[in-house]
Amino acid sequence: MADSVSVATAERRAELAASLTRVRERIAAASRAAGRDDAPELIVVTKFHPASDVRALAELGVADVGENRDQEASAKARELADLDLSWHFIGQLQTNKAKSVVRYADVVHSVDRPALAAALSKAAASEPAREGRPPLACLIQVNLDENAEPGRGGALPSEVGGLADLVAASPGLRLAGIMAVAPLGEDPTRAFARLAICAADLRKNHPRATMVSAGMSQDLEQAIAAGATHVRIGTDVLGPRPRVL
Ligand SMILES: *Cc1c(COP(=O)(O)O)cnc(C)c1O
Repeated sequence: MADSVSVATAERRAELAASLTRVRERIAAASRAAGRDDAPELIVVTKFHPASDVRALAELGVADVGENRDQEASAKARELADLDLSWHFIGQLQTNKAKSVVRYADVVHSVDRPALAAALSKAAASEPAREGRPPLACLIQVNLDENAEPGRGGALPSEVGGLADLVAASPGLRLAGIMAVAPLGEDPTRAFARLAICAADLRKNHPRATMVSAGMSQDLEQAIAAGATHVRIGTDVLGPRPRVL
């Protein structure tokens, strides 16, 4: 029995090629404008879009993809196991999903509490599928909302240091850096300035935790100006998401 591999139409491939070029040009222009010669990496956020789109993107040179729901991500990673892709988990994560996520994820951007770090460490250290692979790269997700309540998607800036120390000391994990989403209703330039301070503080104790994951379709320029090393772009590459929960 042949595996059924879903393939994008020629029209869809042309559309993705054009939008990808536009996004790459924006990233290059924003890097030049910020006086940076180290352009950030592009992570294409493929959530809600079919595996056929991810395959077409891989053929267009995309190496990093982002997903925010375990069920969808694990199914796509399985279908696309023949491709050399890095999978970034960028969504809120329940501890009972850690075991599944460590099977396919290369990077988890959303570590925001000690219980999640512990669950990821336990899963990563015991999962046979991780044998021979590097430790799971983890980013501390920071909540940049100045009126943030604890425990709602992201650690408070004051919690980042302790959580980073915990991740750095956890078997199976590697502390790689920091991640944030600009809060609604605030100028992203102001919010990302606070992220840049958190990132610099983190590097004081963890000099190799250099990843700064920030910037989406609407605010990639501001994130690049503030030092993002990885931007996460969905809509402006793939178009509107086909279905909403
Ligand atoms: C969906 C999502 C993105 C991509 O957002 P777009 O506005 O579609 O570019 C980036 N980061 C996170 C955490 C997301 O959930």
